[in-house]
Amino acid sequence: MKICEKCGTLMILQKEDNKLYFVCKKCKIKIEMKKSNCILKQTIKKQKPLILKNNENIEQLPKTKKKCEKCGNNEVYWWSRQTRASDEPETRFYRCTKCRQTWREYS
Ligand SMILES: [Zn+2]
Ligand SMILES: [Zn+2]
Repeated sequence: MKICEKCGTLMILQKEDNKLYFVCKKCKIKIEMKKSNCILKQTIKKQKPLILKNNENIEQLPKTKKKCEKCGNNEVYWWSRQTRASDEPETRFYRCTKCRQTWREYS
């Protein structure tokens, strides 16, 4: 939704040559819609699935037996992530199921 800066009328969305425009019918102003929203969506899609945000999806991660240095608990969630250069070793992440301490190890 966009409102015409000139007259305050609600502008309508129009498609032309595969581009989207906001058009004010009253004063014939045409503004191209920025595609930043679409780019943002694509970037999110390309992200690797196992990068965690806060505690999101943590329960779906595999668990393994490993000692947490912080609280002594013997069960952790783990996931791995390849660094950008493919010849670099894979990085493993661990998170304690109890105190949620997170750390990484290089294999
Ligand atoms: Zn207008
Ligand atoms: Zn712990």
